[in-house]
Amino acid sequence: MKALEIHVTGIVQGVGFRPYVYTLAKTYRLAGWVRNDSDGVHIVIEGPAQLVDSFAAVLENKAPPASRIEHVAFSTIDPCDYTGFEILESESIEGERTFISPDRALCEECETELLDGGDRRARYPFINCTNCGPRFTIIEDIPYDRPATTMRDFPMCDECATEYADPANRRFHAQPNACFVCGPRLYLNWGELDPHLSGSWTWSPLKEKVPRPHRNREEEMARSNSIILEVVEALHEDKIVALKGLGGFQLCCNARSEKAVEKLRQRKHRYGKPLALMFPTLKDVVTYCEVSELEADQLCGAARPIVLLRRKDEAPDDLAYSIAPDLAELGVMLPYTPLHKLVLDEFAGPLVMTSGNMSDEPICTDNTEALEKLSAIADALLLHDRAIFSRYDDSVVRVIDGRVQMIRRARGYAPAPVRSIEPAIAPILGVGAEQKSTFALFEGRDAFVSQHIGDLESTEALESFEQTEALYEHLFRIKPQVVAHDLHPEYLSTKWADLLANQEQLRLVGVQHHHAHIVSAMAEHGYTEPVIGVALDGTGYGEDGTIWGGEVLVADRMRYQRYAALRPFPLPGGSAAVKRPARTAIGLLFELDLLGHPSTRFLLQRLAADEESTIISMIGHGLNTPRTSSMGRLFDAVAALIGVADDALYEGSAAVELESISKPLGELGIPPQFRFTLAEAAQTTSPELHIAPNGRPVPAYALPRYLIDPELLVRAILDAMANNIETAELSRRFHFAVATMIGEVATKAARETGITTVALAGGCFMNRLLFQRTLAILRDKGMLVLCNDTLPCNDGSISHGQAMVAHARLAEEIRLAEQQRRAEEEAREVLG
Ligand SMILES: [Zn+2]
Ligand SMILES: [Zn+2]
Ligand SMILES: [Zn+2]
Repeated sequence: MKALEIHVTGIVQGVGFRPYVYTLAKTYRLAGWVRNDSDGVHIVIEGPAQLVDSFAAVLENKAPPASRIEHVAFSTIDPCDYTGFEILESESIEGERTFISPDRALCEECETELLDGGDRRARYPFINCTNCGPRFTIIEDIPYDRPATTMRDFPMCDECATEYADPANRRFHAQPNACFVCGPRLYLNWGELDPHLSGSWTWSPLKEKVPRPHRNREEEMARSNSIILEVVEALHEDKIVALKGLGGFQLCCNARSEKAVEKLRQRKHRYGKPLALMFPTLKDVVTYCEVSELEADQLCGAARPIVLLRRKDEAPDDLAYSIAPDLAELGVMLPYTPLHKLVLDEFAGPLVMTSGNMSDEPICTDNTEALEKLSAIADALLLHDRAIFSRYDDSVVRVIDGRVQMIRRARGYAPAPVRSIEPAIAPILGVGAEQKSTFALFEGRDAFVSQHIGDLESTEALESFEQTEALYEHLFRIKPQVVAHDLHPEYLSTKWADLLANQEQLRLVGVQHHHAHIVSAMAEHGYTEPVIGVALDGTGYGEDGTIWGGEVLVADRMRYQRYAALRPFPLPGGSAAVKRPARTAIGLLFELDLLGHPSTRFLLQRLAADEESTIISMIGHGLNTPRTSSMGRLFDAVAALIGVADDALYEGSAAVELESISKPLGELGIPPQFRFTLAEAAQTTSPELHIAPNGRPVPAYALPRYLIDPELLVRAILDAMANNIETAELSRRFHFAVATMIGEVATKAARETGITTVALAGGCFMNRLLFQRTLAILRDKGMLVLCNDTLPCNDGSISHGQAMVAHARLAEEIRLAEQQRRAEEEAREVLG
């Protein structure tokens, strides 16, 4: 006889772990118990030694798909002569942290039941089990039990209750468990635009009595089916439908109808930004897009994000042009809730599926809010009465070079923590930057990086940020003592951090934007040694008061030295230039003294009357013309210069178009004059650059030693234009030159510092061509390359980087203080 006590940590609650253990113990005919505690799952198992060992050996390997085991601890104990195996009541341990599973896409077993006419949940739009369904979006508190979720308003019918209580059942303690008789149901509302269009049942906002009454299955099923048929008919008639999904509303319409897509864009005020598609099946996706094995895994996995896929050359051209005008890639996903599955199967074609919001506001989650805000966009609203507690956008990923690159991290990923190699020195909150905002709460070895919240530019977005932050503090029991923030004084996140720190007497730590980028990439890999950090993005506040974004830093977790930076150029009009790359191009040409080049006439001809003179005068007088070393803006300028895009439909869209039209980079090489040059900064910068706008001298570490000069490259592009070299080839040469430059600067820095690890971060590395080529070059030179894996390389990872820098700095501070204290003590002893 042998007995083991086992403690399992990670995401092991609400994912069917206890029934799994129960069934496994029964299989091996072992006795003991299993119990959920707030610090994980505890198991005691006893029986013949050989069987106990087999149980221990397979426990981890066969764990349920939704679980994520972080650690299993075994200890041998004395057998207690248990007679059977049972599941014990949870014990809540005060102050202990519970992990919460992200929401999971419809699992295979539930899908089979959904489509099986004989099953009692056939065609039930809210079918789920412990392996799939909503989690994070419905949790209001922990421990994760039905009364702590938005499912508490739905008392289970006898059949559901029996499943829920049966340890051998797939729905044992599945908190959102429900059926036609007892669970959430659909409602169709024809919005305010067209109230008389249909005689169908109209939803009356939130007037229904709670708890809901139990209903007749056949009637409910017929009612539900007729709603789905009506919605599908509306979609076929080019109507726009707002659909209440998992983490918020989505707006959908027929992807094959130009008329419908145009209408959606106009009503939503969303021009240009590509729209995501949902296809009924993987087979349909393959008709339109190139899909690798890894990409298929992403499309069909439990997270089921939007995957950016290359369009097939031979794809049918029946998709509406304005879905992703002129772009080589499409954002594609598969149905991830039973409701999506039912609608898509019935529609039998691709749907545009975009977030349900007005331009840049947070997505709607609430029925009443949706009726208010979305009825101006949608012709009909497909609603349901399971409340969404947490807002959760669709995640976006892309596969590059055999690895998954996160672009937007939300549904299916958050709030799973990012593990840290060291425990936090104190509970730390990183508040992020402004664009693609997230926050990070770091305590113990877990950094809980929030889901994508959106651009923190409106009060609505800030409210959503505050609510989500408060929820994370509550759910994960973290009360920050330190707040880390961006250096940009005007960011709402910075101001918010300031206020919070003042109110609650917290320690404030300011972290430079690009340093945060680099340290996030390092920390994801547990890397603590110095690196050469290449941070290329659109905008980040520099310590000299200018806008940085083309930075090579020699950095560790505490500090950085600005090794090289793109030669700064004027950005006439600031944010106006971000919206109009043609302006940025003029700023660049002015700086490089290339406005007189004959090829600039193509650009100048396209400008409005006296636009050029206005811009030049702005630059000349230094009027609202910040200087920038941003690589993102250089991409914009080149895109405008060669005629790809004069205006940006959204930040960085010109760079996306530039990438999209480029020829494959290939091994062909480029003419030698297409290159950046590297110059000692001291020879090219004037002394006044050493004074920040606040009148204080710029710290020495923030002054670049080298400037990366694009003059030769831009001249070569203009010369090539004069020789009628095609745009696609110009774009290829430009991408090639940027990657080559990164390789050269990194090699030089490596030679000078002896550091051979390079961290790549910043939004520019979402560019597939640039990223692939840069990786190849650096690996070829024998460098170790670190980049974000779990988190996006864009500003979605800034909060994480900030928290990591703050941790490292405080840890060092404490170390130094301790050293000094000891030194003083020793000195006293010597004197004494
Ligand atoms: Zn399931
Ligand atoms: Zn039921
Ligand atoms: Zn950035």
